[in-house]
Amino acid sequence: MTQLVIDVVCLFTHDKASLLAGMPRHFCPNCQKSYCHKTTLLRHQRYECGQPPQFRCPECFYKFRYRSDFLRHMARKHSLFNWVN
Ligand SMILES: [Zn+2]
Ligand SMILES: [Zn+2]
Repeated sequence: MTQLVIDVVCLFTHDKASLLAGMPRHFCPNCQKSYCHKTTLLRHQRYECGQPPQFRCPECFYKFRYRSDFLRHMARKHSLFNWVN
């Protein structure tokens, strides 16, 4: 129950604010970055920590960590709106 309340508070507070308030953090064992939410930490570990960019533009070979960034690039730079499904 306590954890649930904290998670709800975290949703509405900035990371820095929650840190100052002494909220429990989720630490990455690799780089010691801390996150308010365990899901954010898991995303960091899967997509950021020690990972090369996962997506590459076939037009200009620019690289992206996140699928959303990649799709936005394709839409804006190459007008390929059909990439966004
Ligand atoms: Zn990390
Ligand atoms: Zn491109």
